Amino acid sequence: MVSFPVPVRFSVGWYAARVCGLLSSSLVLFVLLYEITTLYARLLRAVFAQRREREARLMTGDAVAAAIAHEVRQPLSGMVTNADAGLRWLDRSTPDLDKAKASFKLIVDDGHRAEAAIESIRANFKKDARNRSSLDINELIREALALTRGDLQRHRIQVQAELNVQVPHVRGDRIQIQQVLLNLITNAIDSMAVKDGTRVLGVRSEVHDGGGVVVSVADTGTGIGSQEFERIFDPLFTTKSGGMGMGLSICRSIIEAHDGRLWASPNKPEGAVLQFMLAADGARSAAASPRELPDNLPSGSRL
Ligand code: ADP
Repeated sequence: MVSFPVPVRFSVGWYAARVCGLLSSSLVLFVLLYEITTLYARLLRAVFAQRREREARLMTGDAVAAAIAHEVRQPLSGMVTNADAGLRWLDRSTPDLDKAKASFKLIVDDGHRAEAAIESIRANFKKDARNRSSLDINELIREALALTRGDLQRHRIQVQAELNVQVPHVRGDRIQIQQVLLNLITNAIDSMAVKDGTRVLGVRSEVHDGGGVVVSVADTGTGIGSQEFERIFDPLFTTKSGGMGMGLSICRSIIEAHDGRLWASPNKPEGAVLQFMLAADGARSAAASPRELPDNLPSGSRL
């Protein structure tokens, strides 16, 4: 209609052709504008999504690096201490080879522990369930208390272990559950070390009503502020000058990967209680093989 020749100016046909021209060009213009705007919006969304994905990947990398640094620090400091001790035994006028040998053996053990911790972090991030076996939680608690014995004695902390021999076995990764126990005990020690007064670490294992196991690590330390009960599980949240804030977040991800639950509550009259619950391993029960407390528990322990 626009190109239709209209001989008479200002006639109906002439106006109709002009209006049609205006409408069609406006329509084309608006459609093009709409298309270009939606294309730019889509492009912007894609760029933001890509940026978010990159940041998430970087954060995972940070978390892995922080987790490795956190878990390897303890065996590394053990290695340095034992290497120093070994050198001192050798440095004497008459070197004590047996004691030096014992120190070097402890270094080897620490090395294996560091290697196992790294392996288990990798497994944790890959949600690997291959290393799971039936575990006696009481045995793991005894091991964790034996490994932290030096720190407990140094800070004059009394240990009250109440381990219920009726608790069922749980299915899990031995190294990871041990990591959780070590982290909870180390945090309890840290919180009591900065406070005067009676220092008591209470470790209990109980049978959960639903058939699982509840482990609690209670201390008489500084306690946790009411605003911080959930924040303490956030990655990088720490109130310690040398802290990394990764311990509890790793613990929670390990326990949740085992379909369990980890939570914190106040202890009475002071301090904090960290508890975790794990489901029973259907196939076995610890009641079938109750064991006594070993001799190497720190002083003050009771069953
Ligand atoms: P880090 O020990 O490196 O600070 P964690 O994730 O293990 O990292 O702990 C985070 C924070 O939770 C600690 O800095 C501390 O403030 C608090 N917290 C953890 N356990 C206890 C406890 N038993 N008593 C008091 N505060 C605790």
